[in-house]
Amino acid sequence: MTQAPFVRLMDVAKRWNGQLGVEGISLDIPEGSFTALLGPSGCGKSTTLRLLAGLELPDEGKIMIDDKDVTTSAASDRNLSMVFQSYALFPHLSVEENVVFGLKVRRVPKQERKQKLHRALEITGLLGYENRKPGELSGGQRQRVALARAIVAGQRLCLMDEPLSNLDAKLRNSVRKDIKKLQRDLGITVVYVTHDQTEAMSMADTVVLMKDGRIQQVGAPEDLYNKPVNTFVAEFVGAPPMALIGSEAIDGFGKGKTLGVRAENIQIVPKGEGRLSCTVNESEFLGSETLIGLAHAGAAGLCVLRPGLAMMSEGEEIDIHFNNEHLHVFDAAGQRQVS
Ligand code: ADP
Ligand code: MG
Repeated sequence: MTQAPFVRLMDVAKRWNGQLGVEGISLDIPEGSFTALLGPSGCGKSTTLRLLAGLELPDEGKIMIDDKDVTTSAASDRNLSMVFQSYALFPHLSVEENVVFGLKVRRVPKQERKQKLHRALEITGLLGYENRKPGELSGGQRQRVALARAIVAGQRLCLMDEPLSNLDAKLRNSVRKDIKKLQRDLGITVVYVTHDQTEAMSMADTVVLMKDGRIQQVGAPEDLYNKPVNTFVAEFVGAPPMALIGSEAIDGFGKGKTLGVRAENIQIVPKGEGRLSCTVNESEFLGSETLIGLAHAGAAGLCVLRPGLAMMSEGEEIDIHFNNEHLHVFDAAGQRQVS
């Protein structure tokens, strides 16, 4: 018997005065999974999350949570917690008061509140900060308070909208790991919005990549990386992004197609022995390797990686090689051809 998905969006659409938010959103989310909604700003990630939360109502489609149709249910009836970019903490309340606020509203007994508070502060590394006000905390600590508040709520579904955007890079990295560990340890289902592909790829079991209000591809991070369904996914996922080359530039592929190839699959070869001649246009030292940006008419994002410090001079002419097995072929409409 196959288990019904814990969260199910069925052909959901949302518009404002005819202007598109999202449409055709169909998605099944298993219980205990970590799903990232990924895509550029304005693609509909937050709208999708807010529809799931009940902060917006859809114009079309159906939303199920835990086998219940919640399409028109109030947010408070959906049994979920939320964490936002803005923390949404009460500035005049202490850490403790912020964390247990929802429990108090629900008249959870004091003893139980104390226990839950202790556990949540322990998990988020905030023990000892009970009496501080949000203004006396760093950004990372404030976001931990928001996480602790979500934990004490004890819901099986937690929705997060760009919770790390206000943190600096180093902190973002460590809180990212905390959130992932928390999700695993508590066994909760997380739907996580981010525009940062590294974040989505490193945290999620399933990545949902969106563009212009529509889902482009749903899959494990490695699926999106290894089998992008179209050129948008190919260029959005991975750092550096996949290079795209007009098929005219490569012998044997005819006209009108686009060939994709990743930097790690491109080699620099002696002049006259490559499949493509390019001009070096930049060198970027990354630490363990150097990224060489290349220009060729009709190609975008071409680059190769060389081990260690290995700068090349701008304007240098080189040849590159890649094997057919590493080429992704997209048709004139940018859709992946079967391979
Ligand atoms: P993302 O979170 O991916 O950056 P959003 O879901 O916030 O994108 O927005 C998707 C689209 O819906 C955008 O074009 C945005 O302008 C529009 N939109 C979002 N909320 C509203 C609203 N309350 N009223 C009108 N348009 C909105
Ligand atoms: Mg958003």
